[in-house]
Amino acid sequence: MEMNLDLGLEAVDRITEEQLKKNVLFTTLEDVLAWARSNSTWPLTFGLACCAIEMMATSGSHFDADRFGIFFRNSPRQADVMIVSGTVTKKMAPLLRRLYDQMAEPRWVIAMGSCATAGGPYVRSYSVVKGVDQIVPVDVYIPGCPPSPVALIYGFQKLRAKIRYEARARKRVMAHGG
Ligand code: SF4
Repeated sequence: MEMNLDLGLEAVDRITEEQLKKNVLFTTLEDVLAWARSNSTWPLTFGLACCAIEMMATSGSHFDADRFGIFFRNSPRQADVMIVSGTVTKKMAPLLRRLYDQMAEPRWVIAMGSCATAGGPYVRSYSVVKGVDQIVPVDVYIPGCPPSPVALIYGFQKLRAKIRYEARARKRVMAHGG
């Protein structure tokens, strides 16, 4: 009788161990942060010129940025990603910086297209900023005039990798500019 009880307990132990292996996950706080932050990037609804049309298409049904957790927000206080999609004029620059300052920390910036990256076709103009990294720190640059929605999604994948790295390393990797 005692032997049967021992066998029964052994079976319970084995089943418990199997269930633990299947259902209990050990991880670190850094990995949870990396997972959560990189899968819920909320860009500010904010466009400057022709690149913004491609940005809008990215969140439409065909490219469906929502599937990556990319949800556009109307308030800078609810956003953590700024996509600079277009030509940054010197007149617009202080307003762009104010929007950036109002965004929640940690926050990231994508320079979308050649205008945001370096002035684009207007680089010799008296009124255009030659790269938005003179106004805010930039994390990801996307080349093109304009970059396609696919290129923007690829840029987001790069940003997600950077966010994961930063969360695991517990440090902000200093970007360019600002
Ligand atoms: S990079 Fe080209 S498409 Fe984009 S805002 Fe400048 S001129 Fe327009």
